[in-house]
Amino acid sequence: MQKSLESSNPHQHDGRSTGRRLVSQSLLRGAWLKCPACGTGAMFHRYLKVSDNCPDCGEALHYQRADDAPTYFTIVIVGHVVVSLVLAVEMAYRPPLWFHAAMWLPLTIILAMIVLAPIKGALVGLQWSLLMHGFDPNAEEEIGDQLTPPSA
Ligand SMILES: [Zn+2]
Repeated sequence: MQKSLESSNPHQHDGRSTGRRLVSQSLLRGAWLKCPACGTGAMFHRYLKVSDNCPDCGEALHYQRADDAPTYFTIVIVGHVVVSLVLAVEMAYRPPLWFHAAMWLPLTIILAMIVLAPIKGALVGLQWSLLMHGFDPNAEEEIGDQLTPPSA
């Protein structure tokens, strides 16, 4: 499997392309949920599960370490939108509290579900373009278990 992926793109080393990596292009491709290297293959194989390799060009995407960053950015963005709307509606119409609960809780959840994947894609694209976390084709092999506590 890995052999076929490497042979399909001669510019790759261990699934990592060696070409030029534009930050803005990678961010946009990731935000469109596409592979930052080719822009055509799907980055995710499920809602928030990043594919190990791009299904189109074979670029290794398993080096990504988005961790909690997408949720932090989602909270900041959705929070600003929803809180602004809550304040605007409250000041303009003074609706009852049940209206606020029925309106803003579902809207918050829906908005978060919508923006979470593009934000994660953009962050993976950013990591890829900046050669972070093993995306560097000239880097040594990725350290397998970084969570191992230092020996005493
Ligand atoms: Zn690709």
